[in-house]
Amino acid sequence: MKRLTLLLAVVAVSACAPSVTTTTSPAAATASVERMAKDVQTVASDAFLGRGPATPGEELTINYLVAQLKAAGLEPGVNGSWFQDVPLLQADIVGAPSLTVNVAGKRMDLKQGEQIAVRASMRNVDRVTFTGPLVFLGYGVKATERNWDDFKGADLRGKIGVVLINDPDFETGQGDFGGKAMTYYGRWTYKYEEAARQGLNGLLIVHETAPASYGWPTVKNSNTNTMFDIVRTNPAEVHPPLEGWIQRDFAVELFRAAGQDFDALKRQAQTREFRPVPLGDATFAANYTVTSRTIRSKNVLGRVPGTTHANETILYGAHWDHLGIGPPDARGDSIYNGAIDNGTGIAAVLELARLFKAGPRPQRTIVFAFWTAEEKGLIGSEYYAANPVYPLETTVAGFNIDALAVTGRARDVLVVGSGQSDLDDRLKSVLAASNRVITPDPTPEAGYFFRSDHFPMAKRGVPMLYMDSGIDLLVGGTAAGRAADTEYRRDAYHQPADNYDPAKWSFAGIADDVNILYAMGLQLANSRDWPNYRTTSEFRPARDKSASSRK
Ligand SMILES: [Zn+2]
Repeated sequence: MKRLTLLLAVVAVSACAPSVTTTTSPAAATASVERMAKDVQTVASDAFLGRGPATPGEELTINYLVAQLKAAGLEPGVNGSWFQDVPLLQADIVGAPSLTVNVAGKRMDLKQGEQIAVRASMRNVDRVTFTGPLVFLGYGVKATERNWDDFKGADLRGKIGVVLINDPDFETGQGDFGGKAMTYYGRWTYKYEEAARQGLNGLLIVHETAPASYGWPTVKNSNTNTMFDIVRTNPAEVHPPLEGWIQRDFAVELFRAAGQDFDALKRQAQTREFRPVPLGDATFAANYTVTSRTIRSKNVLGRVPGTTHANETILYGAHWDHLGIGPPDARGDSIYNGAIDNGTGIAAVLELARLFKAGPRPQRTIVFAFWTAEEKGLIGSEYYAANPVYPLETTVAGFNIDALAVTGRARDVLVVGSGQSDLDDRLKSVLAASNRVITPDPTPEAGYFFRSDHFPMAKRGVPMLYMDSGIDLLVGGTAAGRAADTEYRRDAYHQPADNYDPAKWSFAGIADDVNILYAMGLQLANSRDWPNYRTTSEFRPARDKSASSRK
């Protein structure tokens, strides 16, 4: 009955105002809270063992995903298969690495995890051993479109660079790098990639809490552990032989011993005129053994083919993996179920797949991707971006969903990395239809836009939206939204307690957001539009390079 009433209303409107098009009305989509609750309940159950890649939990997870996609009537997304094989390189340092600085006749032995945190090499080598001069390279940034080059053509081959974290205008708050907000030039992944391009033997990033946005324990834990990467044809293109961080106190001491002043050099580094500064006669020596092996996991992809522009793609994605089995918590629970992170994202993308299959067939192709190994460093999505099944040049836009709130309906949605692309404007107008608004990225200085699965595509120029749950709740407003977020981060995030809880949870807000994402994707799918990054974005040049392949 209800459906019939709606249909009559649409017909009536069309008759009065024939110029109004109703084909992309958000009313066409109605996400089901029941279906999504069941998806989360299933993938976050103990039977799925925390969905660790290359564990029995993977088998259960990917089979469940395929069963759901098949039941919804989707086509396999990878040339007739549901799976994209993802080989992961896993590397560990064996024992305590020998790491030494010699400066002005003084020898400093560095302890892994204390003054320094060195990552296991991801170049598929058995041993890292070298000695080289240390040189300070400012923020380690080469940004042609901003007329900025910290290297000034210096010959850096064989040297060990020391750089600052974040970008050159973080401390002053104004300049060509978005002020306080972090551009990609501020992220450590960029700094290692640039170091490889510069031919450096190694790069040490000076840790400071405010510009890094996290403390030394985070640096220590994530860098002295097992490292993961995709298997690359030429890892030397993105990884210098040595990658690591040093504590600020140690950097200050090293600079002083080399006859330099850390703070004075930092101020120089905030200017365009900065040039590389050799740290006196300081040399850095490293010697350690590395073991590497390859493990295998899978991305899962399904699609709804487009009618008239099937070779143009809109991508929805969420990571299926979580942390697996780990150290037990106080209650003895050792299964990291990942119900919110990212059971909710899995459920949302499955539901989007069902909606697109059930609704009017779109003109462009819609692809639904479930990435592996996000928790190990965006591995599945990076593998896809490096080996795309659908060409990135003709991927119209993409949407990433990672950990949605189960706190009920909100007046807003959050956009992580707001201001990057004109997808913001499209989202704004779709939201307006239901009187909702965008809350801009609350912590742009932390660079969260560079830390989830849309990023490997974004870096290569594909316009990507990372929309997250709003905080201005219909019941309780922003106070309630913030409190719930704080509670989740404290009590459940990346802990065994991230469990499905039907008594406390509401999927109503998630359903609203899925409807918004559906409407946005359908609108793009039935248009000839090509969204893009704004001219101020560091990702605009990468997109514009392939402009001729988009008509
Ligand atoms: Zn996640």
